[in-house]
Amino acid sequence: MVSLFDNIQSLPGIGPARAKQLKNLGVETIYDLIAYFPRSYEDRTKQAEIASLTPDAPACFQAMVTSAPRVSRIRKGMEITRLQVADHTAKLTLVFFNQSYVAKSLVYGESYWFYGQLNGKAIGLQMVNPQFEPLDRAGSITNRIVPIYSLTAGLSNHILSRAICHALSLCQNMLPEILPASVLAQYNLLPASEAYTVIHNPPNFSLLEQAQKRLVFEEFFLFSLGLSCMRSHRSANTHDVYTDCKLTLYWKALPFPPTNAQKRAVQEICHDLQTEKTMNRLLQGDVGSGKTLVAAAAAYVAVQNGKQVAFMAPTEILAEQHFQTLQTLLAPFHFHFALLTGSKSIKEKRQIKEEIANGTAQIVIGTHALLTSDVEFSNLDMVIADEQHKFGVAQRAALTQKGKAPHLLVMSATPIPRTLALLLYGDLDLSILDELPPGRQKVETFLVSEAFRSRINGFIRKHVENGHQVYIVCPAIEDGEDASYKAAVTWADTLRQTVFGDLTIGLLHGQMKGSDKEAVLRQFALGSIQILVSTTVIEVGIDVPNATLMVIENAERFGLSQLHQLRGRVGRGQDKSYCVLISSSKNEETQTRLKALCATNDGFQIAEQDLALRGPGDFFGARQHGLPQFKIANLSLDLNTLKQAQQAARTLLDQDPDYILHTPSLLTRIQVLFEISGNIFN
Ligand code: ADP
Ligand code: MG
Repeated sequence: MVSLFDNIQSLPGIGPARAKQLKNLGVETIYDLIAYFPRSYEDRTKQAEIASLTPDAPACFQAMVTSAPRVSRIRKGMEITRLQVADHTAKLTLVFFNQSYVAKSLVYGESYWFYGQLNGKAIGLQMVNPQFEPLDRAGSITNRIVPIYSLTAGLSNHILSRAICHALSLCQNMLPEILPASVLAQYNLLPASEAYTVIHNPPNFSLLEQAQKRLVFEEFFLFSLGLSCMRSHRSANTHDVYTDCKLTLYWKALPFPPTNAQKRAVQEICHDLQTEKTMNRLLQGDVGSGKTLVAAAAAYVAVQNGKQVAFMAPTEILAEQHFQTLQTLLAPFHFHFALLTGSKSIKEKRQIKEEIANGTAQIVIGTHALLTSDVEFSNLDMVIADEQHKFGVAQRAALTQKGKAPHLLVMSATPIPRTLALLLYGDLDLSILDELPPGRQKVETFLVSEAFRSRINGFIRKHVENGHQVYIVCPAIEDGEDASYKAAVTWADTLRQTVFGDLTIGLLHGQMKGSDKEAVLRQFALGSIQILVSTTVIEVGIDVPNATLMVIENAERFGLSQLHQLRGRVGRGQDKSYCVLISSSKNEETQTRLKALCATNDGFQIAEQDLALRGPGDFFGARQHGLPQFKIANLSLDLNTLKQAQQAARTLLDQDPDYILHTPSLLTRIQVLFEISGNIFN
């Protein structure tokens, strides 16, 4: 008797070698195998006639073998089998390379189903290596909708498809229906066992669509339930109430009055800290909206209440920057800070870790290694994480597993429309900084075409001559097949060898080693690099106030929100700053989008426009939000299903908050989805 989450080797016919191939596809358990969904389908249900075949598309047809197969050896190790087939419309030559069994399988005078594609280059009608099966046994490779799987070496589509069908037939009864009957009825969804069967072996396209919908729904339903549970689980963790949340001295010590938005966010945080529930809050605010000040207030309150704070940044450079800023902001209070980064010496590290362990260090700043490595805290009670997309759902859950759950504040500079934020961060409360500090200068943004190239070069040079620095952002790292856009590596070379041969040009992209990247960023921060040619890696939080110009090549290739993020790298100092978008695209929609960016500096407004113009893809695509890996659901395509599933999950939990706890099959699947090993839900 096998069960769903057993290793695939417990299936008959799957040994160590096959298991290894499957593992390459991420398939380890029986469930993984039946949830290894096709990436596409080939419609082989339509029957073509030989005369109507084209070299453009493969097709199915019935034909009779009209000549005995002839095998010839053209050279060592190369055999060709040729034969003629015909239907009532035309004759066709079939050619098979190194498949001598064909000569026995295809019998003169008999008819077969074939599937293949015409060889466009041959004289006369010819087809190479078609697939075939006898008329009475058709339905495996011809005459059906064939699922197409992503493959790995040694594993053909046919073998994989057969293994999955075999597993399905064995598991049919074990596949629990994890959706409640009421949900199935209300949203008109196929039952589980039918959906899994149909997705791998669809009898027709309309049923296939229903199976897909059901499985997407299922995944989003698990996702929504998981988020809700983590949220209620974490806030159910009672927490010592912070008795001292007075901020008078903190506000007084600031070099400037806080904005209303900052005050509101700090109030929301203090409200959490004064109750018994654990804080789980996402602080969203445009670049430059002053999130650090809000985070510092939270840290201040925690330390006033005798607690330890961990402050995490996505890179070491950013950690160093935060270390400086927080020390300055909180200087009057003489707190004890510690900065733990990889570049410290072993001796320094040992000492810092000791201070963290014995509680001397009150505010500890570092990268995410703070939580994963051997760092032991004396009484860690608040975790602040900058840039939430590097700090995903799984990490948030892991945090809860670390004994007593600390308060959590995640900060994000990616404005996401509120509707999407609520869908995606259902396990977090939301605070929004929708106001910039006064006197903030607007980054002047222009949209120009290639025709302006020499003027742009002049503009760049002028900035450098005035002692400022320049970013040039390219959409790709290296030249690909499509030469219609600029690649950072080649463009940096070109600039070095031509117009800017006398200037210092740095290069930065995502495929460089971490330490090389950090070195380049440091040089740029110190001013020894004048022009930094880079890809979008600079998007996250680099703060070089002396950089006053950003040039974005092939701007049409970026999403609006992403362009806005990039633009946030300039305009951080006293000096007037500029962003030049270069695009020669004549596409009207592109022009509208890019002009919208020139017109406003408000990230939330831009995000809303981006959502309206391009759909939610940009918010999920290239950017990692630390969300689980969905097997079939696609956040940007299936947003309506996500909403429905979320509604269904909410209704269910309202009726029965403990539903998951007494539905073990559901619990297992949620843990699989979130890749959480321990049981965090009870
Ligand atoms: P971000 O939200 O991008 O992290 P920061 O916290 O780095 O923004 O703040 C950006 C800049 O604005 C910093 O130089 C900070 O000192 C300044 N700042 C923050 N709040 C205010 C305020 N209320 N008034 C004036 N300047 C502020
Ligand atoms: Mg910041």
